[in-house]
Formats: sequence, C-alpha cells, structure tokens
Amino acid sequence: MAARTVLITGSTSGIGLGIARAFAKAKYNIIFNGLEKNGHEIAAAVAKEFQVDHMYSPANALHTDQLRTMVDEGLKQFNHIDVLINNCGVQHVSPIENFPDQKWEDILRVNLSSAFFLTKALMKPMKTQQFGRIINIASAHGLFASEYKSAYVAAKHGVLGLTKVTALEGAPFNINCNAICPGYVRTPLVDAQIRDQAKSHDISESEVIPRVILQKHAVKKFVPVELIGRLSLLLADEISATLTGTAIPIDGGWSAQ
Ligand code: NAD
Repeated sequence: MAARTVLITGSTSGIGLGIARAFAKAKYNIIFNGLEKNGHEIAAAVAKEFQVDHMYSPANALHTDQLRTMVDEGLKQFNHIDVLINNCGVQHVSPIENFPDQKWEDILRVNLSSAFFLTKALMKPMKTQQFGRIINIASAHGLFASEYKSAYVAAKHGVLGLTKVTALEGAPFNINCNAICPGYVRTPLVDAQIRDQAKSHDISESEVIPRVILQKHAVKKFVPVELIGRLSLLLADEISATLTGTAIPIDGGWSAQ
C-alpha cells in the first residue's frame, strides 16, 4: 500500500512537531504547517531523518483562503490526504473585562475555526476514498475551565462539539474523528506561561512548575509529546474506525478529580 499522508497544523513546534516525528517514524508522508520562521528547515530535517516525503506550508490559520490553498497543494503533491490533525493553537490570559476583542476573535479562529475549515475542505475527498482520520488537539481546557482563559476555554470546548458532529457525519464513510485533551506539555506555549506565572507569584521557575502550572495534575509531570504522538498514531490506524466521537484526556489525572 502507498504511504498514507497526514496534514498537521502547527507542526513546526511543540506538540505538532512531536506528532509529526511519530508519523514520520511510521513512514507517513507529512504535510507540515506552522508560522515558525525556519519552518521549511524544521520540516526538511524531520523528513530527512526519517526518509519520508513532505511538504511545508506557512498557511496562516487566520486566513481561510490560505488553509484552502494548503489543502489543494497537498492533494496535488500526494493525491490523497488520509489523516488531518488540527493542532495549531494560541493562548491569551486576561480577565474577561480586559480581554482584547481582537485576541478573542483570533483565538477562536486559530484554535476552533481553522479545524472547521480544514475538516470542511477534506470531508469530500475523505468520503470519496472511504477512509479518513481526523484528530483534534483540544485540551484539558476543552473539559474544564480556568479563570482568565475565556477565549481558549471557549474555543477548546467548541472543538469537542465539532469533533462529535464530524464523527457522526463521517461514520458511514470510514472517517473517524476524535479529540485529545492534554494536560500540561512542556512546549514554547507553556514556557511562556511558566515565565509569566513565576513573575506574578514572585517565585522561581522551578517552584512555579509543581505549585502553579502542574497544580491540577495528580501526576506532577508534564505530559510527554511522544505519548500524544503514539495515541495519535493509534487513532489514525485502520483498526480505530469504531473509536470515534471521543475526547481522550492525557492529563496526569486532572480529570479524575
Ligand atoms: P506551540 O506554541 O509550541 O506550537 C503552536 C504551533 O501553532 C506553532 O507551530 C505555531 O506556529 C502554530 N500557529 C500558531 N498560530 C498559528 C496560525 N495563525 N496559523 C498557523 N499556525 C499557527 O504550542 P503547543 O503547546 O505545541 O500547542 C499545540 C496545541 O496543543 C495547541 O492547540 C494547544 O492549545 C494544545 N495544547 C497544548 C498544551 C500544552 O500544555 N502545551 C496543553 C493542551 C493543549
């Protein structure tokens, strides 16, 4: 069988890059995406390390036309896109009364609407090929709230709703759709929060990690990106057709409380 192709948004950093490495190791063709300035080089290095075909798109999730172009170019290069992983995401922390309107709009677009537009673009080809796997990287904040993260929490809760609808519409066509809900993962997105929280609590970064950042984890460890990669591979597998419409927490026991 020809190698399957996966499109992963935000895959030139953090969790997305970890997922891309897992799929490259499993010999998928990879469509990389992300806004990192050296995105081209990051993508090429992974493809070279694992000897897989790849494409890199700098499509900005704020712009629907750029997402559409990325899908068109991916289909042109590989003929089929079998797995879509909606991973790109941004955060802004502020009380509601001060939350900038534009930040709200942008977070909803990047964290939620981009997943809808890419699912929309790929639903038809996936139905035609009678195979599709869609994985939405939501968050523990898709299930729970934290204060000062209104846009992020609203967007991630929305992602879980989109996941369920996609699962129902995809079911007759061998398309599954699931969400992964990680707790805290050590990535550039969380490094910024560690710095901010250490400053605002006036404690060191090493103290802020167990006391503030991982406060809700029963297991006081960051979730390894490799675990999210392995779970994504399982959800993308042929065998996972009946595993659909779920929100799977990997959160160090946060959701057990
Ligand atoms: P990260 O900052 O390391 O990576 C985010 C990626 O998204 C980058 O490649 C970035 O370029 C891309 N991106 C941002 N804005 C974009 C835009 N407008 N268009 C296209 N790409 C854009 O962050 P991460 O921690 O790896 O986060 C990845 C996903 O995992 C996000 O959806 C995040 O909400 C989710 N998540 C992260 C954690 C965590 O603890 N790190 C926990 C739960 C969920």
